[in-house]
Amino acid sequence: MEKKTKIVCTIGPASWDKEVMRQMIEAGMNCARVNGAFADPLELDKVRELVRSISDDVSLMVDVKGPEIRLNKFENAKQIKPGDEIIIGNNDQSEIYPANYENVYTYLKPGQRMVIGDGDVELKLERIEGDKMYTSVVYGEVLKPGKALNLPGADYSSDVLTLKDQENLKHAIKTGWDFVSPSFINSKQSAQTIKDFIVQNGGDGKMKIIAKIEDQEGIDNIDEILEIVHGVMIARGGLGIELGLENVPHAQRVLTMKCNEAGKPVITATQMLDSMIENPRPTRAEASDVATAVLLGTDAVMLSAESSAGEYPVEAVKFLTSTVKVAEENLCPFIIDSRAMYQTTTDALTKAAAEVCIDPDEEIDTVIVVSRSGATARLLARHSIKQPIYLFTSSDYYKRVSLLTKNIVKAFVFEGISQHTDDYTRDNAVKIVMKRVKEEGLVSPGQKVLFIGNIPIDSQNFFPNLFEIIKVE
Ligand code: PEP
Repeated sequence: MEKKTKIVCTIGPASWDKEVMRQMIEAGMNCARVNGAFADPLELDKVRELVRSISDDVSLMVDVKGPEIRLNKFENAKQIKPGDEIIIGNNDQSEIYPANYENVYTYLKPGQRMVIGDGDVELKLERIEGDKMYTSVVYGEVLKPGKALNLPGADYSSDVLTLKDQENLKHAIKTGWDFVSPSFINSKQSAQTIKDFIVQNGGDGKMKIIAKIEDQEGIDNIDEILEIVHGVMIARGGLGIELGLENVPHAQRVLTMKCNEAGKPVITATQMLDSMIENPRPTRAEASDVATAVLLGTDAVMLSAESSAGEYPVEAVKFLTSTVKVAEENLCPFIIDSRAMYQTTTDALTKAAAEVCIDPDEEIDTVIVVSRSGATARLLARHSIKQPIYLFTSSDYYKRVSLLTKNIVKAFVFEGISQHTDDYTRDNAVKIVMKRVKEEGLVSPGQKVLFIGNIPIDSQNFFPNLFEIIKVE
């Protein structure tokens, strides 16, 4: 059985090699994400061409940093200990400086906490001289280049999209990237700003928003954020710093549940297999974390430095795949009772479909969904069913976007019959779909398929006109 949970991999030097990328995709990677802190349009092109030279199914996600400050990529990681002095300058005249934010020192006062990366290093701002910040190490052993510089409580001016973000995002829209994952989305307005930018730059209907939720405000406002965005990334790095580590598991649970209820995909991110950056095997706690994310209802799990800068990117993807598969086998089917956020008729129909799937007397082996944008499949997938969902949709873009949702195991562009001719009947369309899944080896004679959706494929009709059980001949 193929895995149902999706895998997002952050791409970097460790995965730029074509053979490594091919192996990661074969091992189960579904989405390639580029961290926009350092990437420029050239790097976006390089990653897009690399991924597309291997697969048309893997989606592309550009991460934009907005208010997140990053340290520059200084030459070597520094061994540090409590009490050491670290000088952070303002620009490339200094060895260490905030790479994407000039003059941040003007917003800070002595005593400011400076938390680096996902919280493995903390510095304290002792004094400012000229444009240099003199800090002391509170804790931590290694100061690594390129890490996020978090300034809890500091009131520095921050835009949802910096100029660099705007440049990357415009380029990504132009060149066919599927998702943008903006950092620090914590209100309807911040989500709307991204949406407006996409629309203004010709990306409407071509790029979806995955909002990174990184603080308490984002959790408090999740319902209104979900009205605007396609899905959510649980940015556990940011959340750990903002809420304290002990509050991350509960935040993860709440956000996963909210997204499942709304019928929107959710990615669980950060430190899933952190020890695999340097080791070929993860820890037991990491294995448990991955499985727990699946059991809670995540759509996707994500690798960060494990796949962008680690020594074992392929092994990390393989381990995620084997771990999520076992978790999926042990997941008890259940129906989510609350209404999804949109498309109430389709929601009711997909709930009924999930009930048919869960009923042991029906013995359904597979679900096939025909859906223009994939929305019907996504609404069905929010329920926990054992059967794989195979989707026939109207474009490559909708195919890739839908493949970020759990349970949608395979997706195809519906083709083989013109919808403007007389032979475009419901029965003919069903025959074409059944022929394709048989050819792909996804169903076999004697199996029972639940068939739902909308035909013709370009129908804007919100009421699905297909709901039947078919025995494979
Ligand atoms: C996070 O904070 O968990 C996160 C995903 O952010 P980054 O883009 O810095 O990896």
